[in-house]
Amino acid sequence: MREYKTKEQKKKFYRSKEWEALRQLALIRDNYECQHCKRDGGVTVDSIKSPGQRKGIVLNVDHKYPIEFYPQLALVLDNLETLCVNHHNIKEGRTFDKIRPSKKKKWNDERW
Ligand SMILES: [Zn+2]
Repeated sequence: MREYKTKEQKKKFYRSKEWEALRQLALIRDNYECQHCKRDGGVTVDSIKSPGQRKGIVLNVDHKYPIEFYPQLALVLDNLETLCVNHHNIKEGRTFDKIRPSKKKKWNDERW
């Protein structure tokens, strides 16, 4: 079983051909849209990169179950989800909270 616990291991994984191929599949499946924005009724797609400019919105393909804890799901399409930068950060923040419960962030899931 491969492990993705250290920065180096993760870096290596995210540079692999296997990941790049699967990532493309996830983007195509998700129609290049943030799945969380979509759930909220919005559409966030990757912006077109014009020469000399930074891209405004960048989509990430995220592991629902982090590869650090679920290395066996690293290359499982069902474990992947396309997220915009905002939602990706929120999600990472929440994951972070689980690891370090002392630093609690407010999360209002209940606002509906
Ligand atoms: Zn989003």
